[in-house]
Amino acid sequence: MQRILILGGTAEARQLAERLAARADLAVTLSLAGRTASPAAQPVPVRIGGFGGAQGLAEYLAAERVDLLIDATHPYAATISANAARAAELANVPLLALRRPPWVRVAGDRWVEVAGVQGAVEALGTASRRVFLTLGRNELAPFARVPQHHYLVRSVDPVDPPLAVPHANYVTGRGPFDEANDRALLEEHRIEQVVAKNSGGTATYGKIAAARALGLSVIVLRRPALPQVAAVETVEAAVAWLDHAVTP
Ligand code: NAP
Repeated sequence: MQRILILGGTAEARQLAERLAARADLAVTLSLAGRTASPAAQPVPVRIGGFGGAQGLAEYLAAERVDLLIDATHPYAATISANAARAAELANVPLLALRRPPWVRVAGDRWVEVAGVQGAVEALGTASRRVFLTLGRNELAPFARVPQHHYLVRSVDPVDPPLAVPHANYVTGRGPFDEANDRALLEEHRIEQVVAKNSGGTATYGKIAAARALGLSVIVLRRPALPQVAAVETVEAAVAWLDHAVTP
């Protein structure tokens, strides 16, 4: 019986757990950061909360006798990915990263790529604009420094306390979000500017396609640098890697 730890918080992590849950040769645990108040139901046992840095994760891997570590975290969760790489080294546990590829700009896209949330705040400019913000609720505070804009904020959980600006509306939703609904939302709120991460995948691509259709500019936060480790892009490829890794 091989013990697998999946670092999750993504649809892919859940899908991979689903694929592995019924296997008699594997004992799978999924780890979540605890960012959402009521996380989606998971098909395998779940542990929630940080490990206490790379050293803490290495100690967890040793204590739980984990045989294989899979980093299936969000592409912007760079700290946990760096910790996973370091902890795998320290505990001498094989590591695979499951990283969904980024979206690629296509004809009609009007993207302004920026480095980080501060770059997005600056790229909004000084004139008041109607902005659709689709970042994590913990990343919104810097937008209070440019309170002249009208914000529409979408997040999984309610933003509490709300953004300290005079004009903000909030919608909650876990996705997936399709293009037609996102287009209707952008039109209803007369949005002029979208701010998004390059999350990749289909679940949150609706706003990118809708912005293209409406000719809107999108401020895209560039992906953070991630550690150089063995990596695959699909759940299918992760299962194949695992099959190879657990073969006696
Ligand atoms: P992070 O900056 O990479 O991680 C911060 C700390 O959270 C880590 O050092 C670790 O704490 C803990 N952590 C993160 N993922 C964990 C996991 N799967 N299991 C256990 N502990 C975990 O990640 P973040 O602060 O969550 O988010 C950074 C960016 O990723 C944001 O843009 C956010 O919107 C995006 N994102 C994250 C998630 C998610 O589930 N985390 C989902 C969607 C999007 P210790 O050092 O104590 O171990």
